[in-house]
Amino acid sequence: PVRVRFAPSPTGPLHIGGVRTALFNYLFAKKNGGTFYLRIEDTDQNRFVPGAEEYIMEALEWLGIAPEETVGKNEKFGPYRQSERKHLYRQYADQLIESGNAYYAFDTAESLDAHRKQHEAEGKTFIYNHHNREKLDTSLVISKEETEKRIANNEDYVIRFKTPVNETLHLQDIIRGEVQFQTGLLDDKVLFKSDGMPTYHLANIVDDHLMETTHVIRGEEWLPSMPLHVMLYRAFGWDAPEFAHLPLILKPIGNGKLSKQGWNDGTEKELFSLDELTAAFDLKRVHKSGAKFDPEKNKWFNHQYLIKQKDELLAKAFAPILIEKGIDISKFDLNRIVSLVKDRAHFVTEFWEMSDFFFVAPTIYDEKARKNWKEETPTLMQELISVIEEITDFTSMNIETIVK
Ligand code: GLU
Repeated sequence: PVRVRFAPSPTGPLHIGGVRTALFNYLFAKKNGGTFYLRIEDTDQNRFVPGAEEYIMEALEWLGIAPEETVGKNEKFGPYRQSERKHLYRQYADQLIESGNAYYAFDTAESLDAHRKQHEAEGKTFIYNHHNREKLDTSLVISKEETEKRIANNEDYVIRFKTPVNETLHLQDIIRGEVQFQTGLLDDKVLFKSDGMPTYHLANIVDDHLMETTHVIRGEEWLPSMPLHVMLYRAFGWDAPEFAHLPLILKPIGNGKLSKQGWNDGTEKELFSLDELTAAFDLKRVHKSGAKFDPEKNKWFNHQYLIKQKDELLAKAFAPILIEKGIDISKFDLNRIVSLVKDRAHFVTEFWEMSDFFFVAPTIYDEKARKNWKEETPTLMQELISVIEEITDFTSMNIETIVK
């Protein structure tokens, strides 16, 4: 059965790219009768932001795409927070050392820096892999006894993946088709740090395996990690999940023409219910090239949804804004007021400037309009007031006829 995940690192609020990743995973799971789960990838304590995890969970809930399994919910494969799985990862790093797929490295930040500088001076880039292995301070160079002694002496070390020297990987991506990588150009990435924490790469692969993930659907920024991830699955002797890397989300540029979404169903249809979207969804239709996020188009979407809402609901959303402005809302028929302005609004937050005259007397006037004022204008206005006051059938049509 299909199992997919959204695996954010809680480093801040959920941005639109994360929302898109979560949505596509959700749709893929629903479409295939599978499960969508949320895993919190919080092994990098330096980047941890308090509250970010709650924010992510609330956002998914609010969006209507809540995961079926996560922290505190159906914890079948729990814990779903990597920091609570710490004890799990070390054994897997050790397993890779034993099978010769990983090694200890003792290089200090200073010595790595010196290597980098020396390469730079020679006009080369320093890659931490077989190109330089004999110059580096690792268990590949020193003896087993020496390695053990240094570890026992509490020297700082990391565990690195031993990338194959010269192999062309032909990998399959659901969106991109075949992608090729030369292993000789890849770094021997750190898998485990001496502070007892795994890096993203190790924890991600171990958890995707243990949590029985069948498809990894994530942003294109992770495509460069795909060869390492596939090699890790291979080194463990595990089946790798299928991969789909979603295109980057670009800012709109150019003439403001409404852009196509990164995904469409092949028709001109633009407004979908979640069920319709699920039924129409197909990862193979996701474009390879960047998707544009157009704030103007987004406003248009919001307007479409806004005008479909019941006036009572819009009034309820508007009420707190009015209360904050000190308006006694019990005196007003908010349903009618919102029904008058909603057709021109994109957001509920625009209602105030469109309807403030219902609630407070104007304190300013339009400077431009004043240029057209003539000597008799004040008298005419006074007259208009008495005309309006005498109207009993107070409908817009009747008012218009009388005023004309
Ligand atoms: N923790 C990674 C992130 O923050 C997950 C990437 C992946 O889905 O593998 O995006």
